[in-house]
Amino acid sequence: MDESVRQQYLEAMGIQNWVARDPVPDAATTTIDTIPPAELPVEQLVPQEQLSAPTVQAATKQGDIAGLDWPALQARVEACQACGLHQTRTQTVFGTGNQSADLMIIGEAPGADEDHQGEPFAGRAGALLNAMLKAIGLDRNVVFIANILKCRPPENRDPHVDEVHSCEPFLLRQIELVRPKVILAVGRVAAQNLLKTDTAVGSLRSSEHLLGGGNIPVVVTYHPAYLLRSPDQKGKAWQDLLRTKRLL
Ligand code: SF4
Repeated sequence: MDESVRQQYLEAMGIQNWVARDPVPDAATTTIDTIPPAELPVEQLVPQEQLSAPTVQAATKQGDIAGLDWPALQARVEACQACGLHQTRTQTVFGTGNQSADLMIIGEAPGADEDHQGEPFAGRAGALLNAMLKAIGLDRNVVFIANILKCRPPENRDPHVDEVHSCEPFLLRQIELVRPKVILAVGRVAAQNLLKTDTAVGSLRSSEHLLGGGNIPVVVTYHPAYLLRSPDQKGKAWQDLLRTKRLL
């Protein structure tokens, strides 16, 4: 991407005069093994065997979600009444984007804008996410975006454990269908539920993770809504985006 264009998007994120310490390597020659050790401190790596999250394959064998194709999966979500959130939703928010994307972005749950529009990451937070993606040369429509929950919790409260458990097979089937090279977990709720941990985002974002039992790298970053409230954290989010780009 032309540097002047990149700068425009960085300014849209609220990051001005940013100069990356390291150029983004050529994606064709970049693998998880080529990331500089300084970016992935060995002492903070999470051993794969310590991750308790179910594998994608195991989780989607629950119920009859396994084997559903995209249309059938979306229809199942739209009709879902597996948790109490179906009573207060305007509509389900299935997810959107490239169903064969290299990058999958996972947030927490629909808010008011998403519940109204039926798309994840709408409103001001969505606009900032779009700017963040543009900053690393990606359009929103080339990634796939989904949430931990497909229905809005009332008053945007945190998802309950039983709601996450009920909705998890849908997300895991989406991951199985997309087969992304990298997952970007956006915000505390998404990161903690995906990685089955209560560790703070500030610690998770500086470590490398694999989706439980699998081989999909998970990068953790701050939620755009949080960045709108705490713009001083945008520089850290930019570092996370650069790491995501390298993994791709
Ligand atoms: Fe079903 Fe998920 Fe909506 Fe609950 S949040 S009703 S599990 S689609």
